[in-house]
Amino acid sequence: ILDAIESPKLTNRQGSTLIYPIAIDRNTKEFILIKLSQLSEPLSFFLDTFFHIYKNHTELLLAAEIDELTGLQNRKAFDRICNSLFNPKLSSDDMEITASETCFAMIDLDHFKQVNDEFGHLYGDEVLLLFAQLMIREFRTSDFLFRYGGEEFAVILTDANPGAAYEILERFRKSAELFNYPQVGCKTMSIGYTVTDIDKNAALIIDEADQALYYSKKNGRNQTNCFLRLVDSGEIETKESEPILYF
Ligand code: GH3
Ligand code: MG
Ligand code: MG
Repeated sequence: ILDAIESPKLTNRQGSTLIYPIAIDRNTKEFILIKLSQLSEPLSFFLDTFFHIYKNHTELLLAAEIDELTGLQNRKAFDRICNSLFNPKLSSDDMEITASETCFAMIDLDHFKQVNDEFGHLYGDEVLLLFAQLMIREFRTSDFLFRYGGEEFAVILTDANPGAAYEILERFRKSAELFNYPQVGCKTMSIGYTVTDIDKNAALIIDEADQALYYSKKNGRNQTNCFLRLVDSGEIETKESEPILYF
């Protein structure tokens, strides 16, 4: 099966078991497995052709979800994945992914406009491209990375409680701020994050992370803040006055 996943076409045919790899990217490894009691040549030819077309179609759809500059997933992918992961109305199967151990972070480069103003748009683009590569290098392959828009990035940290997420995000922030971009030099970033919850929808999760990011900006930039912690310490007021547990 692993051979088939790595391969662009059907590679594993044992008796009447067919394995077709469908979508392969950083986060997705999907394949269709077909078990047949009998496999005739015409049927084999039909299935090969059908899944070849299906795979091409899927790849086109995935390509539309990739940000051209950075190669990260774009806002379109972000909306689709957020809605399937963080929609409380979804089926129990999908809900399983929405473990309480998932955090969501927004990352915004500090004073990025200055880069464009001082060095020009091309150097700005180069910073965004290299920054995305730092993200790919530093975050775990199980995390979802997005270019949310402009100089804003988003991360879904799977299997991480708020305390672990803080460690991961701070480690990234401290490492990435040391990177020397050609001509431009070092750039800092501000981060806001929140914990996802089975009762929260995508819009609420994004809003909470955004509020924490806004706080990081207002509080001097170059820092990471957790929405729930800010609520507990009274730095941010929630709309409902319910106590929220974290850490
Ligand atoms: P802050 O610390 O408050 O986030 O300040 P900032 O300058 O980073 O934020 P602001 O929202 O004022 O400016 C964002 C800038 O990002 C302005 C815009 O020109 C630039 N930008 C957005 N997308 C791109 C892009 O694709 N390439 C380049 N080179 N610049 C971009
Ligand atoms: Mg910015
Ligand atoms: Mg911004």
